Amino acid sequence: MYKKLKFSKSIISTSILFLLFSILVIIFFNQITIKNTLNNFTRYDSLLINKLGQIRGGIQRYVKLKIIYNPKAFKVKKSIDNYFNDIEYYLKQYPQIIPNDYLIEFYGHYNSLISLWKQIKLAKKEKELINFSEEAWKMADNLTTLMEKISEKKLIKLNQKIMFFTILSFSIIVVLIFIVYLMVRSGLEKATITEPMTKLYNRFYFEHQINYLYEKFKRTKKPFSAMLLDIDNFKQINDTFGHHIGDEVLKKVAHILQEESRKTDMVFRYGGEEFIILFPDSKIEEIKKVAERIRKKIEQNIQVEKRIITISGGIGEFNENMPSIQHFLRELDNALYTAKRTGKNKIIPI
Ligand code: GH3
Ligand code: MG
Ligand code: MG
Repeated sequence: MYKKLKFSKSIISTSILFLLFSILVIIFFNQITIKNTLNNFTRYDSLLINKLGQIRGGIQRYVKLKIIYNPKAFKVKKSIDNYFNDIEYYLKQYPQIIPNDYLIEFYGHYNSLISLWKQIKLAKKEKELINFSEEAWKMADNLTTLMEKISEKKLIKLNQKIMFFTILSFSIIVVLIFIVYLMVRSGLEKATITEPMTKLYNRFYFEHQINYLYEKFKRTKKPFSAMLLDIDNFKQINDTFGHHIGDEVLKKVAHILQEESRKTDMVFRYGGEEFIILFPDSKIEEIKKVAERIRKKIEQNIQVEKRIITISGGIGEFNENMPSIQHFLRELDNALYTAKRTGKNKIIPI
């Protein structure tokens, strides 16, 4: 609750942009992975199944034509050889078509089919040819069935892989969206409680925090303190050097106030060139030193063309003698007024 504000709007918006971009990248890569996996897993399976089917039918046709000495047999033989070459090409180029646990079974059948095909090409007798062709049909059929089985298993695996990737990227996206939500929310919260020029807490948040301290005081009876301060002769600075130089002075004062207060203290821009610091759990003796340090630091460090900038302040402790917050603030204001009236550049306790 008492953290100092150190955030940059540009870092938040850049991070949000980066996170949203990451979501897009995740979606994109998820799609690419699914597409690639699909290709790798199944595309060549169907080509192989197709070729095996063509070999199965081709051999039947070849045998029939050879038996009746039809010259077309030669052409059919050539295309069957080509089918075998195609299959060999696929297997060499894409060895993943046949998973390791099916290698022995597949090549067992496949090599027998090739040697049978060689025998068919050499065979002359009709009976021999018919027997071979019958056997070749069975072998090619077995191979096709095996390939279909392999393909189906791959599809099941593929589904699992796609599910895994989808769930993974979905979870990452949910986490990223939640981070974006938290960042936007904290950005909005900070924007409503701060003042853009000095980046200090605003008056609205001051009301909230002093009431909170008051409620805490009622419970714990531990006093808290405050320092109300105002830049001396600020109107002159504006009138002599211009409003923008006045703004620079305000920022420098705000910076010193932040620097000199502790992490648990809170600095607010109370009005135009008035600030208030709340010191939770602090007694007046402790903050007297802090207030004096702040006064000196401003006097020694902020100048506009050799004109020294100073502040006046009122400090006080909220304890059981204070009837209300309003009274406390009025007393602080009176102390500040006394400081102004008695020469400025000083801190007066209430
Ligand atoms: P004193 O020593 O009694 O406090 O005199 P002062 O001149 O500081 O006080 P006065 O109340 O007469 O003038 C305060 C000036 O602060 C008037 C106003 O124009 C200026 N001011 C208020 N807010 C801003 C701001 O955001 N930027 C700038 N540049 N000036 C501001
Ligand atoms: Mg002033
Ligand atoms: Mg003033």
